[in-house]
Amino acid sequence: MTRTYTVNTYGCQMNVHDSERIAGLLDEAGYLPAIVGEQADIVVFNTCAVRENADKKLYGNLSFLAPVKKANPAMQIAVGGCLAQKDQAIILKKAPYVDVVFGTHNVGSLPVLLERARIEEESQIEILESLEHFPSTLPARRHSAFSAWVSVSVGCNNTCTFCIVPTLRGIEKDRPATEIMKEVRALVDQGVIEITLLGQNVNAYGVDFGDREAFAKLVKECGNVEGLERVRFMSPHPRDFTDDVIEAMAQSPNAMPHLHMPLQSGSNKVLQDMRRSYRTDRYLGIIERVRAAIPHSQITTDIIVGFPGESEKDFQDTLDLCTQARFSAAYTYQYSKRPGTPAATMPDQITPEVVGERYTRLHAHQEAISLSVNDESIGQTMQVLVTEHEGRRDVARSRMSGRTEDFRLAHFTFDTDDLPRPGDVVTVKINEAAPHFLSGDGGAIRRTRGGDAFEALTRQREPLLLGMPTSR
Ligand code: SF4
Repeated sequence: MTRTYTVNTYGCQMNVHDSERIAGLLDEAGYLPAIVGEQADIVVFNTCAVRENADKKLYGNLSFLAPVKKANPAMQIAVGGCLAQKDQAIILKKAPYVDVVFGTHNVGSLPVLLERARIEEESQIEILESLEHFPSTLPARRHSAFSAWVSVSVGCNNTCTFCIVPTLRGIEKDRPATEIMKEVRALVDQGVIEITLLGQNVNAYGVDFGDREAFAKLVKECGNVEGLERVRFMSPHPRDFTDDVIEAMAQSPNAMPHLHMPLQSGSNKVLQDMRRSYRTDRYLGIIERVRAAIPHSQITTDIIVGFPGESEKDFQDTLDLCTQARFSAAYTYQYSKRPGTPAATMPDQITPEVVGERYTRLHAHQEAISLSVNDESIGQTMQVLVTEHEGRRDVARSRMSGRTEDFRLAHFTFDTDDLPRPGDVVTVKINEAAPHFLSGDGGAIRRTRGGDAFEALTRQREPLLLGMPTSR
């Protein structure tokens, strides 16, 4: 009987990217993805270590699995990702029934470690301090048929005082541009029409081989790939953000008019304490130049509230900067003390009550800004890439969802039975706005190679979803 697996992913897009490789490796090793709701023979946790509750989530899930494993000793549990890289043997101490602990630098070792654990009936732990292979070189089972993550680098050379990533993912390592472009072209051949270039700090791409313009060149090169309709990237860093990237975005027809650039705080004092290496004038200057070069672009960001030493005045600076920047969306986080980071031992830690209160105020403040930004789009028509897993799909009312070019979520309805597929592009007339999405009437449907790829993959995976044998 073929053994089945499931991969639980926590944290950032880099983990989503790596989980696609973990699934691809297990496919290649002869396992099958478990059907949703079915207890898998192999359960993999690809963990995050950025926020405190990441630990609670993992150990909570592991303790839930303890009796399941007791009832079925042949079942295997593997823990990988940033928390595995950080906690290492602690995981086996807390959960001795875990079979494999592997790190962020050796994703490729999982199948061998699972086999060794099974044969030797002993837990296996393998954590490397530096990268073995770029995960991108490993086989992948991608979540989407038409949209793909393409990592350009792993690790980070920055030392933000709240962040544990450099400790766990190491210093920045850049993939050769030829390899990246080979992957991009291969993905487009498979029907992918949208890619997101991925790195902890994509703007520093090229530091490894001494080319400071390497990232702009990559965006431009993606601009010449026939069939590639949408190019996005995540995450840039304001300190390393250079004007050649703005130029590349403005000149490349398939570079999307959206920039997700983490701010973290609107207070220069807090930015200094965070060791973010830029100040608010530089940040605002970048988005001003992006908007000048790409007038219809939208900007989104990440913000942490409650960083040690953050005064009410500092917090007010953050609210004021949000007003000035007019983000279409902001992903807001409550500061979470991470052992091993400089910020964890800083004086003036803020009480959870104050952090929570500021978080609520920032959320409400940004919601009002997002709504006013979205209101300005009422009456416009937008090109929406239909997505699979977003929004409440209500086939009865032909209600579907997707992403606009500037990365806003759009819900739309059709009054015909001729519906688009995920991966197709729909012209939507916006007639309603909310803080987190736009709504409108679906119009012309452009059938794309992405839609074809979605249909082909659904046909291929359907038997699997129905538990029938497949050619995979
Ligand atoms: S740029 Fe800062 S926050 Fe981002 S991964 Fe690097 S150290 Fe962490």
